[in-house]
Amino acid sequence: MSAQIIDGKKIAAEVRVEVKKQVTQRIAAGKRSPGLAVILIGDNPASQVYVNNKQKACDEVGFLSRSYHLPANTEQSALLETIKQLNEDNNIDGILVQLPLPEHIDASAVIEHIHPNKDVDGFHPTNIGKLMLRNPVLRPCTPYGIMHLLDVTGETYKGRHAVIVGASNIVGRPMVMELLLAGATVTVCHRFTRNTPELVAKADIVIAAVGKVNLVKGDWIKDGATVIDVGINRLDNGKLAGDVEFDIAKQKATWISPVPGGVGPMTVAMLMKNTLAACNLNEAS
Ligand code: NAD
Repeated sequence: MSAQIIDGKKIAAEVRVEVKKQVTQRIAAGKRSPGLAVILIGDNPASQVYVNNKQKACDEVGFLSRSYHLPANTEQSALLETIKQLNEDNNIDGILVQLPLPEHIDASAVIEHIHPNKDVDGFHPTNIGKLMLRNPVLRPCTPYGIMHLLDVTGETYKGRHAVIVGASNIVGRPMVMELLLAGATVTVCHRFTRNTPELVAKADIVIAAVGKVNLVKGDWIKDGATVIDVGINRLDNGKLAGDVEFDIAKQKATWISPVPGGVGPMTVAMLMKNTLAACNLNEAS
């Protein structure tokens, strides 16, 4: 058996087309374009690539996009002041501060400073709390995008066993909440888990989000499982690879997402969807 490949690039493009359609309808109705402000601090090359991709997507769907590239030694107080101004700016619906931040800046303080209705990354405690309480508003983009990929495979969730490998604030933990909300039975593995291979072997749905090449071995995968690889790892030859031993896992899974071209494009597409949702939210409030 060879798994069907989940084409994240194509599915993300469809999400962007839908967002663009709604932006066009807004403009036709005399309303303004949704606006996204992206703040990048320092010169991390990967972050620069992510920010460029987000700006390109904004242009494609017809958003107003503003970028703030601040030096690595920017004081936290100056960053908070920029966020405060953007919170008060009626043309800006979404504020995204690209992570990771330099060590002298407290990421939690920065995230908590963003107005929850402009928190298009979905990382503010209010938005995480609402997802936890089964009343999601702005949802963390990567898990939200993964749910969209799973929907496209026809995943039924209810009573299915999902195993998430990785428990970070931005992927693993909100992923638990999304899958629980959808009715799956969820197990989380992290750096202290002692029997990750046995747990993964029981999973109908595997989500790998650690950041270590080939951490999830292909022969751990149960026959017929769906495998979503979130990991982005740069190999010595310059190519990107995920966390799953793809070639072997592909022989056992029914559906599998590749790296690149799986989850990555979905994260940006869901950011567009969240910014449109934030625009509607900000107009209603
Ligand atoms: P992180 O470093 O914050 O968290 C990693 C998690 O993996 C931790 O919970 C840790 O306990 C767990 N872990 C470490 N070693 C483990 C092991 N041996 N077994 C089981 N769990 C282990 O990482 P993150 O920010 O969640 O990112 C994870 C990966 O996903 C990275 O490669 C990152 O680049 C990628 N990522 C991709 C996207 C995307 O859009 N495709 C978005 C976010 C993150």
